[in-house]
Amino acid sequence: MSAMNEWKLRETMCEIGRRIYNKGFAAANDGNISYRLSEDRVLCTPTRVSKGFMKPDDLCIIDMDGGQVSGKRKRSSEMLLHLAALKARPDLRSCVHCHPPHATAFAVAREPVPKCVLPEIEVFLGEIAISPYETPGGQAFADTILPYVKDTETILLANHGTLTLGVDLEDAYFKTEIIDAYCRILILAKQLGRVNYYGDDKAAELIKLKPGLGIPDPRLTRGLENCDLCGNSLFREGYGSFSPEPKVFIHPKLLNESTPSGETSACGCSTGAAHAPAAKASSNGNGHSGGPDVDALVRSITDQVMSALNGSAK
Ligand SMILES: [Zn+2]
Repeated sequence: MSAMNEWKLRETMCEIGRRIYNKGFAAANDGNISYRLSEDRVLCTPTRVSKGFMKPDDLCIIDMDGGQVSGKRKRSSEMLLHLAALKARPDLRSCVHCHPPHATAFAVAREPVPKCVLPEIEVFLGEIAISPYETPGGQAFADTILPYVKDTETILLANHGTLTLGVDLEDAYFKTEIIDAYCRILILAKQLGRVNYYGDDKAAELIKLKPGLGIPDPRLTRGLENCDLCGNSLFREGYGSFSPEPKVFIHPKLLNESTPSGETSACGCSTGAAHAPAAKASSNGNGHSGGPDVDALVRSITDQVMSALNGSAK
């Protein structure tokens, strides 16, 4: 890589840092960004520097084991997480980790991000995983994402924040922006009292659009025929013991209800999918609009998030 290209990447990383900070996705010195320069070199953000105020020569270069190669400041302690992701996904070059409030609220609640609400989410993000909690900084923390990162580029880190991956810096950052905007809309719609969903058949239509847009999706190779596309099917089974169940955002088909338009019953495929959350959700008496305590909780979280955002709005 030429020195000029590397300088441009450094400038872009600083620009992405400003966007993360100005959006309120990283308080104080939170958050970190990485970009794979070559097989064994990664450009990354330093520790204890606000992402809103970085200069190109503040950035560090490390090797794939996290050893510092250059830079006057020490690399971020969360780089092991980035390196685990980059090693698992040789097709991608960049990672963004931060604590965007709305997506992090889902990570704190350990509420799976629901499917079949906004079509763009299906196309641009696909299924979103929640990885189990671990103390940040070490290899055990980095390894929490390994089961999921093969199949998704958007991961909520339980009780922590988000990790998004992309082919370049902006692609990785945009996924952070998209997931936080989506989670914000979900919380707002929940406050209005109603979240409507489309059905598996419509989800299948969206997933089939992805190859034409150059966006791969593991469900296309595994087959869309089980028809459980609205139920976070990909990460429900076979991903270890950590599988958060939806408590607040539950697709009506999992409650054996139909949407007012009847969209969910229009699925013509055979269904052999596990509907584990259905039994659980109905047995604990939660309607799909959530119990009163859940509503109160979401409302108070939203109020806090909104006031924090208003305080830091630029
Ligand atoms: Zn963090």
